[in-house]
Amino acid sequence: MNNLFSAEFASNLDNNNPLSSIREKFNYPEGNSSPTLYFSGNSLGLQPKAVQSLLVEQSRLWGKYGAKGYFAHWVNFHKHLIEGFLPIVGAQNGEVMLMNALTVNLHLLLISFYQPTIQRHKIIIEKDAFPSDQYAIASQLELHGYNPKTSIIKLKPKPNEKCLKTEDIINTIETHGKSLATVMLGGVNYYTGQKYDMKEIAKISNKVGAYVGFDLAHAAGNVKLDLHDWNVDFAAWCNYKYLNSGPGAPSGIFIHNKHSEWNGPRLAGWWGNNISNRFSMDSKFDPIKGAEGWSISNSPIFSMTPIKASLDIYNQVGMNNFIKGSQNLTGYLEELIHSILPKVEIITPKIKEDRGCQLSMIIKNGKAVQKYLESNNVVCDWREPDVIRLAPNPLYNTYSEIYKLVSLLNSYDKT
Ligand SMILES: *Cc1c(COP(=O)(O)O)cnc(C)c1O
Repeated sequence: MNNLFSAEFASNLDNNNPLSSIREKFNYPEGNSSPTLYFSGNSLGLQPKAVQSLLVEQSRLWGKYGAKGYFAHWVNFHKHLIEGFLPIVGAQNGEVMLMNALTVNLHLLLISFYQPTIQRHKIIIEKDAFPSDQYAIASQLELHGYNPKTSIIKLKPKPNEKCLKTEDIINTIETHGKSLATVMLGGVNYYTGQKYDMKEIAKISNKVGAYVGFDLAHAAGNVKLDLHDWNVDFAAWCNYKYLNSGPGAPSGIFIHNKHSEWNGPRLAGWWGNNISNRFSMDSKFDPIKGAEGWSISNSPIFSMTPIKASLDIYNQVGMNNFIKGSQNLTGYLEELIHSILPKVEIITPKIKEDRGCQLSMIIKNGKAVQKYLESNNVVCDWREPDVIRLAPNPLYNTYSEIYKLVSLLNSYDKT
């Protein structure tokens, strides 16, 4: 076991890694004396080098063409990008749109997919859902006149456990079946790194007649998704975490094609109107079929441009290779921690299929350890009350970096 823990072993793994040349496509942040060991791609992914020239180009087009640039370059700007997302989230044509930011999109989607009635008014979420999602859901309920205390059902792990059990999620959905309007969970929990069984959750939600949606902030570009085949009603994700498209990059949404002729509630705007009569300035909304019908405003071209650079990389690598690389890299980190630092408790599921890149770990004096790592050029984060999150990314992290990280933790342990 311990022979895994050597600079030479790690460097051999790097030399045989089919993804190792991809790293050159990213700008890697410089630390104070040596290059950063960057393990925070689950917070903000690194910048693809191509971004800088693509942005300069859009700026040039604006300067050169002014308003004429709209029809030549920008009206369909999002359409070229959408295609690149289909294999990443497992969607068909018409099911994906890029717009707004993630929490804004959760609100817009809930306006459509949370339609409470006296009989069906409950919504199931994770007790430890990301705070923004909790605020969004509670305020949606209040908007409809329902009480978050009685209408939000919160899933929580069994006593002394950190992760949810699929059977408990399924049971909860079945128990509340007839009073359930919507199920909305994360695809991968931001705190524990647990990936949920979205296929089973969608299946049972469909069966009880509730809408089902996922916040894929930590799942898109990280784990295998088959949203269409799983029969998920709706989903949204941000593009600045695993998808490396820059701070505040526009978010993606998925709406299953079974809703492509939607005539239920929706907040509308001109960018969701059919292009053939968008500019005729009619007062009647004539929505585009599918996910595009949910868009409201014209595309923020400068914020969307980095998405192109990121998708080009994903397209070159392919989701299956990404996942294989991720399982190997994260598996190496996990093995080293178990063998070198047995006191560290990893709360992320052990089974590879139940997680993505991220490992969350409880370390004694964790906050101090995180500070120590930071002072040694490691970028990772600390989340209250007691977790350090590390997300090795197969597009740009190396086995040697993982070896160095564990060496640092090991030397801290000895001080
Ligand atoms: C990162 C993240 C967000 C961030 O929301 P924004 O609207 O993009 O600021 C929301 N929800 C989850 C689960 C996240 O991980």
